[in-house]
Amino acid sequence: MTDGGTLVVIEGPRFSSRAESRWFSGNGWSIVGMTGFPESVLARELALCYTSISLVTDHDAGVEAGEGVTHDEVLSFFATNVGRMRSLVADVVAALPEERTCPCPTALDGLKLPFDLPG
Ligand SMILES: [Zn+2]
Repeated sequence: MTDGGTLVVIEGPRFSSRAESRWFSGNGWSIVGMTGFPESVLARELALCYTSISLVTDHDAGVEAGEGVTHDEVLSFFATNVGRMRSLVADVVAALPEERTCPCPTALDGLKLPFDLPG
């Protein structure tokens, strides 16, 4: 398990090209995914709490030597670990506090928005 890092979001579903993989890793980005945008931005605009959990199925195809990764390998890894992911999500939801003490609800304080936020 790795805590932290930078997610680069690409349109998909697809695999990265080897050139993209080298570019991503060269910039220090640690995870390549196809979700996370625009929901992270929308969550912040609504002062919602947001986090992402990544089930990493493979090292990016261009980073490894050889043939890279296949679709079947990704599906197999995902199937093997989806139970762990479900358990983690259930544990996180169960541990959520009744009241938020994080800075998310006040992240927009002082900003003048061109619309009213839902109450
Ligand atoms: Zn929060």
